[in-house]
Amino acid sequence: MTKYIFITGGVVSSLGKGIASAAIGSLLQARGFTIRQRKMDPYLNVDPGTMSPFQHGEVFVTDDGAETDLDLGHYERFTDSSCHQSDSISGGRIYWNVLTKERQGEYLGATVQAIPHITNEVQNFIKSDLHGEDFVIYEIGGTVGDMEGVLFLEGVRQFMNEVGRENVLLIHLTLVPYIKTASEVKTKPTQQSVRKLLEMGLSPNIIMCRSDSLIPDNEKRKIAMFCNVRPEDVISAPDTDNIYKIPLVYHNEGLDDRILNYFGILSTANKPDFSKWDKIKNVLGNWKHNIIIGIVAKYCGFPDAYKSLNEAVQHAGIANETKVNIKWINAEDLEAMNDSQIAETFSDVNGIIVPGGFGHRGVEGKIKAAEYARTHNLPYLGICLGMQVAVIEMARHLLGIENANSTEFTKDCTPIISLITEWEKDGKKEVRDENTGKGGTLRLGAYKSVLAPNSLASKIYGGATEIFERHRHRYEMDIKFEEALKEKGVIISGKSPDGTLPEIIEIPAHKFFIAGQFHPEFKSRPFAAAPLFDALVKVCLD
Ligand code: GLN
Repeated sequence: MTKYIFITGGVVSSLGKGIASAAIGSLLQARGFTIRQRKMDPYLNVDPGTMSPFQHGEVFVTDDGAETDLDLGHYERFTDSSCHQSDSISGGRIYWNVLTKERQGEYLGATVQAIPHITNEVQNFIKSDLHGEDFVIYEIGGTVGDMEGVLFLEGVRQFMNEVGRENVLLIHLTLVPYIKTASEVKTKPTQQSVRKLLEMGLSPNIIMCRSDSLIPDNEKRKIAMFCNVRPEDVISAPDTDNIYKIPLVYHNEGLDDRILNYFGILSTANKPDFSKWDKIKNVLGNWKHNIIIGIVAKYCGFPDAYKSLNEAVQHAGIANETKVNIKWINAEDLEAMNDSQIAETFSDVNGIIVPGGFGHRGVEGKIKAAEYARTHNLPYLGICLGMQVAVIEMARHLLGIENANSTEFTKDCTPIISLITEWEKDGKKEVRDENTGKGGTLRLGAYKSVLAPNSLASKIYGGATEIFERHRHRYEMDIKFEEALKEKGVIISGKSPDGTLPEIIEIPAHKFFIAGQFHPEFKSRPFAAAPLFDALVKVCLD
């Protein structure tokens, strides 16, 4: 029977609950079990698709086109599996579902209330779309004590009664701060946070303590005594210099054994196989090479806004035993620079990435970055907006269309990039116009691209003729510029199967200039770097 694990967070936010959940998933996989990972976010947005990266970090996109919390990216990376639309829900979506049912008369005249209707909807989510996985791991967003999380926790409490206490494990991730002036770690915030859970009828079975370093045994015993768990069930979750070391740290703390012990299946479980994590750990400590990649971005100083990108670059580093240093270059600063300042800015980078983005801010700086890379034979990888700015730059400087631009940024231009008004998804036509609402209406999720034979793209993807990559965009390059660009040495080497949407452009005569209308970073894994990033690191090493 499926076992359910719920992970709550205590004391403060930003403890790394997503990484902890992902690492727990990877531990259970290493013991031979099948897993599924899910996220419940109590906030009232229907999904994070329209939330600012400043507030919420990156929007992660699944194969089936869900715009989700970035933690789903951690789940996919740590467990090398694909999450689905049904693996992520927000408070807003729960309310939306309930109100939709109310409007459709499904409640047969009942007064619709937080309990039972909202809590039932939480339980519907917990049980939905499962396929006999051994473990399903649910991360509950926010911090215990937040008002908006209460109905989620109540839903979990009721669910435990329904499936039986023995089939549900509660893990509470908490902060155990070190107070320098007293030279002591402090357990009281943890005690109080667990008391908050107890008030709601939830008693955690395992307590994971985020801290600077390992928690001393006497402090573990203290936490155990106050929080109703065994000392072995108090697990240190210390800071590490690289997140991919975390599964092994948890294993050494005995976490997988304690989880399996709780469910009474420790004696029958496989011996752990951590070979792939050991391999990564060995590479991390022994870099053979060093490179600098310049990322020209709008949200410099907010690495969460580019979470998957950051990770994909690191994965390519791991694959090539190369320490990749990222130089963040503010696109708006670049806008104001003259040629010699731009040359100075790029003088120490081995390659440039222009990542995805929305809105006009910094776009002219990104166009300058694409121009610099193209004209100086500097490796360039453009991602989504990074492809669009490269095409605008080429239209301006190779085709002589001075006012070339995207209609996303100005209507007063020769549109090279315009709103996509029609495309095909799963055999059905999708239609959009200027008045379409903003939530969930982009071209989202995995779409097929057909690659030109003998192109750099097909070489990078191991000779493939078709690839599936994840998309998240509303605008698209106009294919009518294909011939003119070809005459100037730029080819479209990837297209949608019907040949109407350019998916990849490249410059065959350039050392490495390639850009895609999709986000290859979403499918990158620590054990299998995404091909485009791997190729970029390789060419930077040349
Ligand atoms: N803003 C552009 C579009 O919507 C690019 C999107 C992106 O980079 N993800 O098409």
